[in-house]
Amino acid sequence: MAKILPNILITGTPGTGKTTTAQSLSERINYRYVNVGDLVIQNNCHEGRDLEYDSYILDEDKICDVLEPLLSGGGCVVDFHSCEFFPERWFELVLVLHANTEVLFDRLVSRNYSRKKIDENMESEIMQVVLEAARDSYQEEIVHSLASNNIEDMESNILRVEEWLHEWKKNNLT
Ligand code: ADP
Repeated sequence: MAKILPNILITGTPGTGKTTTAQSLSERINYRYVNVGDLVIQNNCHEGRDLEYDSYILDEDKICDVLEPLLSGGGCVVDFHSCEFFPERWFELVLVLHANTEVLFDRLVSRNYSRKKIDENMESEIMQVVLEAARDSYQEEIVHSLASNNIEDMESNILRVEEWLHEWKKNNLT
């Protein structure tokens, strides 16, 4: 089935604002919000918890099977902290959110993450691990790196997507 609407992936280090931005965006453009982390838990798409990293050991094939029917028709805003195992065909736009070091640190501290988990996420953000993975996994022109430090950033990011969507419809639906 051909997509009549695109899918948008919002990714980035934990704490950069994916959920906040993706939920707001999906309401604004009237798309379905898809929280991959929640679906992993609800559908048991994991092999238990990795105690060292304090996170689920993801079963990538299983979560992709759960996502396929949701995403094949388009019209979804997808929220997840990694992106390299999704089929490339799913997404027409990939946004990688970033937050400044101090901003991200405060957000992670307020989540009561362990010191180890905070350090790992801070390092990942500084090394731009998610951005690099996105650039390795998707065509360069669909990957955009966006600041997500404050409400003004979020508003401007949402406006950018609305403009992009307008162009996409002009180019794909006429
Ligand atoms: P993620 O989904 O990437 O882990 P969240 O959306 O849960 O991040 O955001 C982490 C914290 O940062 C939340 O407390 C949220 O309210 C705050 N936050 C996220 N984006 C922004 C923003 N653009 N401006 C101000 N605070 C933000």
